[in-house]
Amino acid sequence: MVHAPARPPAGAPPVRINLYSDTQTRPTPAMKEAMMRAEVGDEQHGDDPTVHALCDRMVTLMGKEAAVFLPSGTMCNVIAILTHCRKGDEVVAHETSHILHSEGGTHAALTGVQIMPLTGPRGMFTADQVRAAIRPRTRYAPPQRLLEVEQTANIGGGAIWPLAQLNEVAAVAHGQGWATHMDGARLMNACVAAGIAARDMVASYDSVWLDFTKGLGAPLGAVLCGSSAFIGEAWRWKQRLGGSMRQAGICAAACLYALDHHVDRLAEDHANARALARGLSQIPGVAVEEPDTNLVFFDVKGAGSTVEELQRKLILKGVAVSALGGRVRACTHLDVTAPMIEEAVGLIREALAA
Ligand SMILES: *Cc1c(COP(=O)(O)O)cnc(C)c1O
Repeated sequence: MVHAPARPPAGAPPVRINLYSDTQTRPTPAMKEAMMRAEVGDEQHGDDPTVHALCDRMVTLMGKEAAVFLPSGTMCNVIAILTHCRKGDEVVAHETSHILHSEGGTHAALTGVQIMPLTGPRGMFTADQVRAAIRPRTRYAPPQRLLEVEQTANIGGGAIWPLAQLNEVAAVAHGQGWATHMDGARLMNACVAAGIAARDMVASYDSVWLDFTKGLGAPLGAVLCGSSAFIGEAWRWKQRLGGSMRQAGICAAACLYALDHHVDRLAEDHANARALARGLSQIPGVAVEEPDTNLVFFDVKGAGSTVEELQRKLILKGVAVSALGGRVRACTHLDVTAPMIEEAVGLIREALAA
C-alpha cells in the first residue's frame, strides 16, 4: 500500500499559514490574467508561440543554446539523465539528492543508471571528493558519465553552492569526460540571494533546469536547457514519456509572468525565512539551521517533541510544515507574509510548550 501525503485530520481548521512547501503557492489573479490572454498552439508540433517565447527567455537567462518546456522538474531530471547516460552508467551526486530520494526509484525503474552518493555538509561535496570517486576504466567498473548537483540543495537546508565550488567540481567531471547536470529547482533563489546572474551560476553545467512551481509560483512547468544537440535528444525522450503537450502556452504564460514579477521578490521570502529562524532560535530546545534562502530546517528533539507530533499540533492551529530528513522544514514563499511568520513562531512556541 502506497501512502498519499497526509491530509489534515477531520475537524482541523483550514490551513492559514502554509509553510509546507513553496509548491503550494496559488497562481495570483494577475498570473491568471496572463494565462487567459496567452496565445497558444500545438506545442507538440512546435506551434505554440508562448512556449517558444518562454524557451527563448530561458536560453538567454541561462546562456545555453536551447531549451525545452516540460511539465515538471522531476521529468527534467529523468530526461536529462536519459539523454546524458545509457543503462548501467553511473551518476555521481550528493547522498541527499532529489534524484535518489524523491523520484520514486525512477533511475532504477527507467533510466537504468546507478547513483554514487557523495557525503558532505549541507548537500554539497568538494572537488577532492569527486576526484576520490573516480573509478578505474576497467570492464569491472560501471562507466561514470555524469555529475549532478542541486542549486539550492533542498535537504541540505536550501543551501547555496558557492560559485567557485560549483566550477571546481564541474572541472573535475569534465576532466574525466563526464557531463555535468544541475537540478535548479530553486536556482533563482540562489541567484537572488548570492547576487549572481543565472548564466554565470550555471556556466560550468552542460544541462540545467528551473522549476516554475516552487517559489516562482506558477501552477506547473519547468524548463530544461542545454546545447542544441542535447535538447534535440531530450525532445525525443519528452515524446517517448508522454511529456509533449498541446496548448501548453496557457502554462508557459504563467512561467513568463513569474520571470517578470516573481524573481526579485524571492528576497522577501529569504528575509521571512531569516526572521522565522531568529524567532525559532529563541524557543527553548529548538535547534535551527541558519537559512541561506527560503527553507528553514529545525530540530525539535531538544524540546521533547517528534517532528510528527509538532506537525499534528500545528495543523490543528492552521499551520502546515513538512518533515524532511528527520527535521521540520518550514518553507517561505509568496503566500507567506511577515506577520504570518511572527504568528507562526508564537504558535510553534505554544505547540512545543503544550
Ligand atoms: C521539487 C524538486 C524537484 C522536482 O520538481 P517537481 O516539479 O516537483 O517534479 C527536483 N529537485 C529538487 C531539488 C526539488 O526541490
